[in-house]
Amino acid sequence: MKVTLENVTKKFPSRTKNSPDVIAVNKFDFEFPDGKLIALLGPSGCGKSTTLNLISGLLKATEGKVFFGDDDVTELAAEKRGVGLVFQNYALYPHLTVRQNILFPLQNLRGKDKMSKAEMNSKAEEIARLVQVDKLMERKPNELSGGQQQRVAIARALVKMPKVLLLDEPLSNLDARLRLQTREEIRRIQKETRITTVFVTHDQDEAMSISDMIVVMRDGVVQQTGLPQEVYDNPDNLFVAQFLGTPPISVFDGTVKDGSLYIGNDKVLDGVCADNANVTVGIRPEGYILKEDGALCCKLRTVEVMGRDISVVSSNDFAKSADIRSIISSENKVDTSKEYVRFNLRREKVFLFDKENGKRIRFCSEKGGVENNG
Ligand code: ADP
Ligand code: MG
Repeated sequence: MKVTLENVTKKFPSRTKNSPDVIAVNKFDFEFPDGKLIALLGPSGCGKSTTLNLISGLLKATEGKVFFGDDDVTELAAEKRGVGLVFQNYALYPHLTVRQNILFPLQNLRGKDKMSKAEMNSKAEEIARLVQVDKLMERKPNELSGGQQQRVAIARALVKMPKVLLLDEPLSNLDARLRLQTREEIRRIQKETRITTVFVTHDQDEAMSISDMIVVMRDGVVQQTGLPQEVYDNPDNLFVAQFLGTPPISVFDGTVKDGSLYIGNDKVLDGVCADNANVTVGIRPEGYILKEDGALCCKLRTVEVMGRDISVVSSNDFAKSADIRSIISSENKVDTSKEYVRFNLRREKVFLFDKENGKRIRFCSEKGGVENNG
């Protein structure tokens, strides 16, 4: 089932006289497509959980509308929306076994939805097999690992076959290896059930790797939506460019002059015209080509071996952060005794942004047309 937020705003009233209202979500306008896994991505406090709770019905929108399919559910209570919820802390009932935890939502069904004991048991076992906790049915939560507990929590959210599955940072309490493994599991479960799933995370790597679509938020405002790769390749603003990607994009002060882009005195790209002379330049780590007579000169700091690739760490007076990380194939040899290193730049990996508001400035070619990817 698709879920649509139509210009949804959530204001929390200020608690004291002097502090303003908090606008946790500001005019959120987006259609979560049917059967997909969509990541809501952004830093802590940007309004992800609030958005999720507006979908679940645990919070009421101050303005705007929420639709499930074509039905307006804005005024519908949470328990009637048919959503499954999973939070960061698994919140299993500690005194109940895995089986009883998974059965719990079914035992509360009333009226026409009421199930017989046998039906409930077979449903619970089917879901337990799906999330692979079927061998642990008689254990209590404290006898499970974090990853297993989280899978039980997902089973409990799925057992009623919700129309929408909402996951709020479900992996945050797991250690790194389990996090990787569990996110693959979530992806598999979502693909098998085809339940529209909204996955909240502050971890861009997590969002990029498992979702069909990402929604990047900042300060309650949606910054950009799209396929993960599309958003990475074509960020609409500096915030999105910096939020996505490891190592992060490197950022410089730059100047556009006579059809060329300069970083300091280095002329790094030709065929660039922009209305603004002074720009912010972002270069993805894979946008650097090591070259002895390369256009951009940086001070060499160190080289980190990463196996297939190497990471050249350098610095530049016009860079906004101390380190510039460029990822190049390990076939390249870097002479670490040298003081400087030079790069040419891959045009499609270089982005220009407005110095004031961070908005993307598109390159325009000399012919006057706007290029697709730069
Ligand atoms: P995220 O999940 O992205 O970390 P939240 O949605 O939890 O962010 O919070 C967004 C903003 O709304 C934050 O500034 C937070 O302090 C504020 N906020 C969240 N819930 C409440 C509430 N019940 N009362 C007042 N402010 C809240
Ligand atoms: Mg949150």
